[in-house]
Amino acid sequence: MTNNTEPKKVLFGTNGVRGIIGEDMNPELVMKIGLSLGTMIQGRVAIGRDTRTSGEALAAAMRSGLLASGCDVIDLGILPTPALQYLVREHYDGGAMITASHNPPEYNGVKVIEGDGTEMDDTRTIALESLIFSEDVRIADWKSVGKLTDESHRIEEYIRAIVSHFPKDCCKGMVVVVDPGSGPAAATTPEILRRMGCSVHTINGRFDGTFPGRVPEPSPEGLALLSETVIATKAAFGVAHDGDADRAVFVDETGTFMNENLTFAMLARAACQNNPGIVVTPVSTSDVIREVAADCGCTTSYTKVGSIYVARTMLKLIEAGERVAFGGEGNGGQIFPNHQFCRDGGMTAAAMAELVAGSKRSISSLADEIPPYTMVKEKIHSDDPTAVLSRIRSACSELDLNETDGVHIRWNDAWALIRPSGTEPFIRLYAESKDPERAEEVKTYLLSLL
Ligand code: MG
Repeated sequence: MTNNTEPKKVLFGTNGVRGIIGEDMNPELVMKIGLSLGTMIQGRVAIGRDTRTSGEALAAAMRSGLLASGCDVIDLGILPTPALQYLVREHYDGGAMITASHNPPEYNGVKVIEGDGTEMDDTRTIALESLIFSEDVRIADWKSVGKLTDESHRIEEYIRAIVSHFPKDCCKGMVVVVDPGSGPAAATTPEILRRMGCSVHTINGRFDGTFPGRVPEPSPEGLALLSETVIATKAAFGVAHDGDADRAVFVDETGTFMNENLTFAMLARAACQNNPGIVVTPVSTSDVIREVAADCGCTTSYTKVGSIYVARTMLKLIEAGERVAFGGEGNGGQIFPNHQFCRDGGMTAAAMAELVAGSKRSISSLADEIPPYTMVKEKIHSDDPTAVLSRIRSACSELDLNETDGVHIRWNDAWALIRPSGTEPFIRLYAESKDPERAEEVKTYLLSLL
């Protein structure tokens, strides 16, 4: 439960700090983040960026802050966030990724990576923010200013690491279309799939921060060209990434967009069959995950909404001696515990390729084996989310409530989640059931309580 006196993050949201260039995001802020992060880490820090037009300016500011604090900086150039995370875990003491993920082109921001390759947690982020605000940072003298090294060639290690998880040529001859959306995965996902034996067609495959082909969010509306290309090339499927390629979404062989909870379920089921264990996911995820895990004799563990909570819960369970099969969110962000503890779009594309090729069936027929659920969502304006939540809590006190994040209510044939936005005066409402009418009914009932 949230305690109002608890210190809260101000600058940083669920996945880093983001803003519009020239308004609330600029090199001055990023340099302060660099100085503060450098003060905390005092070691070798890797930096990377996505393809945004403002990336070089912000990366230069980040380099400057880190070097001035006395850290050595390793520039990894343009690469996916999960590639930076992998390389930080292998080689460095920390990392900073200049990215605004799925946000429109005018945005940019910073994701901060710990030495183990995971995103920085809330406690450490609050400590980082207090350094940023107090400016109580370390400024190195002339003898101890950091050194800058270019190690952008290391992206090859990330590609190899993913390919090494799969049998050689396991996808031989399978045609796949990749849409990196002019983002950093243009340098990784097509190459990964090619090395697994796929015949790869790439669209929006050149780095371009103006995003001429589509916006960084891989929504169904933006993926018309991907669908057309899948049909035209008779591909097995198409895969698209968000702006920093920690997420992957799919279209089937008929060019139809596949719901992210569905593709999550397909990959979770494969993981549970191959290596049974707990599946970790936020409370906002479809029950289909719980059902496919249970069918394999596996259980599901729920976290707050945010990939970092999923990743850290997976790590904690493993430390406690539990077996963890898989983790992820219902937005195309999947975590493979045999690879690394963060969402990885390239790994997700590779795992799906192996699944489809190994089945010798179409991706849509594999999808047909997953039980259908209907989830409805609503975003409601509210100036007082706390009052709304307590109203829901008392109205539903007889029901099965879970307060991991917001209020989660479970009926025997449906569930709902009412969750305040961390940053805006909005409440998010999710309702899900196998019966579409029941999902709508639950939503209408809860809206009447709001
Ligand atoms: Mg992202």
